[in-house]
Amino acid sequence: MFIFKSLVLLNAELARQKESGKEIGFVPTMGALHHGHLSLLKRARQENDTLVCSIFVNPKQFDDKKDLTAYPRTLTADVKYLMEAGVDYLLLPNVDDVYSDSYVDDDIDLNGLDTIIEGKLRPGHFQGVAKVVKRFFDFVIPTRAYFGQKDFQQTVVINHLVKHFQLPIHIEICPIVREDNGLAMSSRNERLSDEQRSKAAFIYKSLIDLKERCFFKPLEQAIATTSKYLNSLEGADLEYLVCVNGDTLEEVTSLKDADYVVALIVVRYGGVRLLDNMILKKN
Ligand code: AMP
Repeated sequence: MFIFKSLVLLNAELARQKESGKEIGFVPTMGALHHGHLSLLKRARQENDTLVCSIFVNPKQFDDKKDLTAYPRTLTADVKYLMEAGVDYLLLPNVDDVYSDSYVDDDIDLNGLDTIIEGKLRPGHFQGVAKVVKRFFDFVIPTRAYFGQKDFQQTVVINHLVKHFQLPIHIEICPIVREDNGLAMSSRNERLSDEQRSKAAFIYKSLIDLKERCFFKPLEQAIATTSKYLNSLEGADLEYLVCVNGDTLEEVTSLKDADYVVALIVVRYGGVRLLDNMILKKN
């Protein structure tokens, strides 16, 4: 595995690969790798000739600077993981390599997708995500790029970004990888105690209950019942539970409102914001 800090040098190296007809798979991450990341890498390894991964804790997407400082950094273990996963190139830039003096920091038109739901609570977050992903796409120019369904709103933002700039990149969305108890894997789970981590399974269980309930009760009632249950749990602070059209993120109040309906949830528990989601219907 080759490690590049410079986007320009990586771009030159990958241009040579493309000239010889190689297809390039790209998995952007912020490190502190776990099995969720590995599932993306595995799939990308199977579907491409050359595999590029990036590790970059992007300051632009952290609206809360304390969260940025507390973000886990486990580079030695990550490098080992990536070598085992068959990564060819690791992009490991510094902040100055990504946002050099020549970088023009204009906001990207995300058609309002960045200011609703998660974006309403984290102003600037999706602009930060879109900017760094666009920057990396411009230099890696992958054939396919892989993202996790775990960050559902992010996948809709990235799909929009690719359409908006007419980028010739296939976006592949990979299913959520969960711990044995159902908790969605996340680098932030490391901040939970063992007991909290085991108890945090209530989030997944409540999504399963919601999915079952909404097929025999109106969706609004099912959401209200699940929200009431979550609000009754000690130590859990439900930030939102909302059902949306999975293509547009427009809120739906009935399963009949869209062909593709996804429940999005954020619960603050043990001092950590835990994100999860579940597809309720996809025709
Ligand atoms: P992050 O390092 O948190 O920015 O995540 C990098 C990529 O891995 C993103 O596309 C995430 O959606 C994806 N990812 C994170 N956790 C999971 C998970 N539990 N299952 C599947 N993909 C995940």
